Amino acid sequence: MPSMAPRCELPALAAASLATSPPASDTERESVTRGALAVPDTDIIDSPPRTETQPAGLALGGINPHSALIIVDVQPDFMPGGALACTGGDEILLGLEWLLAQHAFDHVVATQDWHPAGHVSFASKHPPHQPFEALEFYGHSQTLWPDHCIQRTEGAALHPAIDWASCNAIIRKGTDPGIDSYSAFRNNIGPDGHRPATGLAGWLRDRRVTDVHVCGLARDVCVLWTAEDAVAAGFKTHFLWSLTRPVTYETDDDTRQRLSDLGIAIVDI
Ligand SMILES: [Zn+2]
Repeated sequence: MPSMAPRCELPALAAASLATSPPASDTERESVTRGALAVPDTDIIDSPPRTETQPAGLALGGINPHSALIIVDVQPDFMPGGALACTGGDEILLGLEWLLAQHAFDHVVATQDWHPAGHVSFASKHPPHQPFEALEFYGHSQTLWPDHCIQRTEGAALHPAIDWASCNAIIRKGTDPGIDSYSAFRNNIGPDGHRPATGLAGWLRDRRVTDVHVCGLARDVCVLWTAEDAVAAGFKTHFLWSLTRPVTYETDDDTRQRLSDLGIAIVDI
């Protein structure tokens, strides 16, 4: 059952608490991913006229009653000055605020990185290793991060500059002390070799969502993984590029290529 988020009184989905659909196996995921390659690289998005209050460069398009907006990890710790800052992370706040104010989406989901202290992804847990080094976890490479988004700290809150009232559900991820979680849909690989589902795919299907629009932080990590898993779960996926920022811009070419390879629409709203 959903639990209540203490900070903003919105229904929160604790990671894996709504696992109404089984996690896709790696074989299934590969199959879906390959299938997506037939989708055109870009979509033609019909955009309505801009309003006077609309920030420059932003326009809505391609949204229907079966569309959901997924806002990934817009939290102070990912902003400049935060524990794990994304380059220009705060630059998306104005556009995101405008987007939410349009009430264009019937379904809005936010994710919240929500780690217990001493989480396995923290470099401080693995001395003498330093942040941004990689270690092998459960047979797969894992980047070590600075301590960030520790439960109930200010840095882990949903960003206070955003009005989250229109958000229908919150996925808290990374709550397992031994498994990291980038994607809104599934944890990273755990000790049993599987990626447990968060329940988001089932939540969306129950509401007849067919299209997801993803934005937030970080472009090259959690938003990208969310987009990849959205495709694997069968959702038509739109990547709101201008409402994301990366840990480092050096990854942007690779991120665009990955999205293109998967047939994910890159939308510069
Ligand atoms: Zn994290």
